[in-house]
Amino acid sequence: MGRTFVIATHNVKKAGEMLAILCGTVPGQTWLTLADYPQVPEPEETGATYAENAAIKAEHACSLTGEWCLADDAGLEVDAMGGEPGLYSKRFAGEDTPFPEKMRRILDRLRDLPEDQRTARFRCCVSFARPGQETEIFEATCEGRIAKGPSGVGGFGYDPIFWLPELGCTMADLSPEQKHAISHRGKVLRLVAERLQGLLSEG
Ligand code: IMP
Repeated sequence: MGRTFVIATHNVKKAGEMLAILCGTVPGQTWLTLADYPQVPEPEETGATYAENAAIKAEHACSLTGEWCLADDAGLEVDAMGGEPGLYSKRFAGEDTPFPEKMRRILDRLRDLPEDQRTARFRCCVSFARPGQETEIFEATCEGRIAKGPSGVGGFGYDPIFWLPELGCTMADLSPEQKHAISHRGKVLRLVAERLQGLLSEG
């Protein structure tokens, strides 16, 4: 039968990425998202760190569903912008501002900067909350550069301006499988999957 897990997000693209990685690496379980719990809202992200925000989201879902819950909190850190937008990646330039405009603002800020000063990374924290247990936190990053302009239609969010020098393309130019193989979310979820496999094998 396996166990029921809830991915604590209403973001369809993010849930899709998390499900694609977890279903394959932790088979035989029932994977739900907050789409299966329309009455459960996402809480406000009031934490001071990615880890705190991820924990807030997983613990909130855990308290309302009673299931084992996973949540992620991610952001884009641009070194030439002092690490911005970072924790505020979703709210950067206003939460309702479309991504092409958010990306244009970053490209404008970096307009004349040479390649070696365009370093950036995606950081992703995943929290795992179970009723009556300490919440566990996992973290990973993916290093890259800010491209000179957007490219690609894959992924979501800031992917079209995240340049991967070793691959010679942006994150949005990759297929889903290629993105999961190298992304911050793919890396951290493989750590989570190892932990879950260990727990499930304990019975
Ligand atoms: P949150 O984790 O939902 O708070 O997301 C933070 C922001 O970073 C959102 O605006 C996302 O669109 C963006 N973001 C998160 N993960 C990715 C990713 O894998 N690629 C591009 N943007 C991302």
